[in-house]
Amino acid sequence: MSDSTTLLILGASGDLTERLLLPGLGSLIAGGEQTDLDLLDGLTVIGSGRSEKSTEEWRGTVKTAFESTGAKGDLASRTIDAAEYVVADPTKQDDWRGLLQKVQGDLIVYFALPPSVVATVANVLADLDLPEHTELALEKPFGNDAEDAVHLNEQLAKVVSEQQIHRVDHFLGHRVVLATLALRFNNRLFEPVWNAESVERVEITYDEELGLEGRAGYYDTAGALRDMLQSHLLQVLSVVATEPPASIAEIDLRDATAAALRATALWSGDPVFPNTTAPSRRARYTAGEVAGRHFPDYASEEGVDADRGTETLAQIALEVRTARWAGVPFILRSGKAIGQPAASIVLTLRPVNHRPDGQTGDGQAERIVLGFKPPRVSLSLTAEGGSMPFELEPGTVDGDLPKSAVTEYGEVLRGVLGDDPTLSVRGDVAVQCWRIVQPVLDSWSKNEVPLEEYAAGTKGPASWT
Ligand code: NDP
Repeated sequence: MSDSTTLLILGASGDLTERLLLPGLGSLIAGGEQTDLDLLDGLTVIGSGRSEKSTEEWRGTVKTAFESTGAKGDLASRTIDAAEYVVADPTKQDDWRGLLQKVQGDLIVYFALPPSVVATVANVLADLDLPEHTELALEKPFGNDAEDAVHLNEQLAKVVSEQQIHRVDHFLGHRVVLATLALRFNNRLFEPVWNAESVERVEITYDEELGLEGRAGYYDTAGALRDMLQSHLLQVLSVVATEPPASIAEIDLRDATAAALRATALWSGDPVFPNTTAPSRRARYTAGEVAGRHFPDYASEEGVDADRGTETLAQIALEVRTARWAGVPFILRSGKAIGQPAASIVLTLRPVNHRPDGQTGDGQAERIVLGFKPPRVSLSLTAEGGSMPFELEPGTVDGDLPKSAVTEYGEVLRGVLGDDPTLSVRGDVAVQCWRIVQPVLDSWSKNEVPLEEYAAGTKGPASWT
């Protein structure tokens, strides 16, 4: 590997680059360790796109993003000053000549592009003479279905080896996901109860107040199932459901989480939702207020084709067919325009085998809760009431998880820049994630599951609670 690296961002005029990627890079400068700073030393950030933009404008974009994260000092200034912008269409082989002339040392190509053009660009790259050490970073969604993902994997394999491909899922860089691994495998308190003997159900929820926010072009063809459950929440499930790996080295951890996903399928057991036997549910929001903001009906938002029937709230129940988890429903849910949204991993524990006679008062289900916003761990317990001996009351023990100045995208970029795919999605896993949700996509496309409605600002359809 060379001392210098070029990070070439394709689609650099887009939302992802400005809002998440560049600030992620900045956060590594602002809050990273010396090893991160070493990775960034000698990095040239080239932005590229078909839009006309000068290098000065691009440097301004990088600077603003860095400032938003508190990245300053010599390294930040040098990275900004070295940044360049090249007008090019990545789908055109001729345009790559100018792009590759700018590359110094190793090359990382970051596809911050709409999913529809990724395969075309991968084909172009396969015919180019790329630097000896080239890595590719790709965003989600990775393909449209399992077959498509297999095909895309084959195309990418013609460019570089699997170890040099980073299928990015920034939830794998989330503090709570990293904390789940840390808590489970390093504390006697958690791992011994982390199984079907003790756990009744697992809920992985990521609801948000945000609505469409002008992203109809992408979201209306994706919906909550593809946008959130098929990628992010299945990655979270893989970490929650994994067998303990021998080490957290890339091969051990990714083998273990991949095995968990291979064992995962749509729930086929007893009804798990209170009012329905369906292993999947979908709904979309109608007009309402969320945290003081008025949202129109999703169906009347600009750019939305109401007839597509895109869901803004999705819930599926899965089972993980292993000795550890058989019989435990894993419920994944994500919705937009939700009032007081929950974002958490919740393990509800089974009742104790025997409660001593003579105790009165209200206990509660024992739960291990890992919260996303803010990163937090809490234990809901049945505790001592306080007023009278042997009286019971619900109690909670909780605390914030350590904060990090490095954002989730910063974590992802740390792996990409450091040539470490531990927190990247492996090719076979990308295919598995589509395989798991395919029966739901099929039944929704046949309208077998009704598209329900909920007012923006509520928790979802009234019948779901
Ligand atoms: P955009 O739709 O903003 O597109 C990014 C850029 O791609 C555009 O600015 C455009 O630049 C270029 N582009 C668009 N169409 C074409 C085309 N036909 N051929 C070549 N270039 C094209 O996407 P985002 O930035 O929102 O997202 C990029 C990727 O990241 C997507 O895969 C998305 O799913 C993923 N992602 C996005 C998130 C977000 O919050 N935005 C979050 C997580 C993942 P130009 O016109 O200059 O060429």
